[in-house]
Formats: sequence, structure tokens, C-alpha cells
Amino acid sequence: MARYNYFGRGDEYSEWHRNIQDDSLGYIDLDVVEFHKTCGCILFVAETCRFKGSYYKNTTLTRKIAQGLGCRGYLIFYMPIAKPQSHVDEHLWYDPYMTFKIARIDHLSSNSGYEFRDFTAEEWIKHLQDIRIRHNCGHK
Ligand SMILES: [Zn+2]
Repeated sequence: MARYNYFGRGDEYSEWHRNIQDDSLGYIDLDVVEFHKTCGCILFVAETCRFKGSYYKNTTLTRKIAQGLGCRGYLIFYMPIAKPQSHVDEHLWYDPYMTFKIARIDHLSSNSGYEFRDFTAEEWIKHLQDIRIRHNCGHK
């Protein structure tokens, strides 16, 4: 069945749900809910996927969740980078060995029209920080 191919792995609830013999029941795991740690507002939801050369990914439900919440939605393709043998980056406060191809999806009405931007780990963290800083719901 398609859903076995579609969901790579999940927790025990996911496993349990996908074994229900009723194809009319739909289910997804929501990959990312980025939120503001002070006010608790949801900043964005995202679908994540390891990049394997294809820029296509079904984001229908993640997009609907973003639109329903009135927040941003992203499709995040990630690509791990080989770590060097030396540990020159041990002083960093984040893992630099990841790059991303990221598209906003909340304004789209189908699984097409993705406009990807490349991000290094540092650039994406800066973007996350910018989203947090620009968030102003009035809550202190
Ligand atoms: Zn807020």
C-alpha cells in the first residue's frame, strides 16, 4: 500500500495507525513545529525530508496546517555534510554539518511552485533567529 512507502518510520502510534485495515483513515506525522519560547506562539510548521535529488514532495497536509494556523509553512530538504576527522569545530554552539534547500509553502495551493533557497546551517539558524525576533504578538 502507498502509505507504507510514504511514511518511512514513525513512533508506535504511527505504526499502530498505519496497520488499521481501513484506507479511508488519513494520518500524517507533522515533522516540525517551531515556536517562540517566550510567548508560545507557533512560528511555523514544516515538512522535512533528506534531499535525494528530487525537488518534489507532497506537502498538502503541512500546507493546510500552516494555512489553518495562519503561520508560515516550509518544505525543508536537508543534506548532511561529511564531518572532517579533526574536531576543529567543537567550539561551535551548533552542528555545522548540514545544508538545506528550503521553500515556503504556506502561500501555495498545490504541491508545485516551490521556490527553493539554499542555506548553510549557520544561515538557517540566522533565519530562525530572525523569524523569532520579528515575531511580535504583543505578549511579553
Ligand atoms: Zn507570540
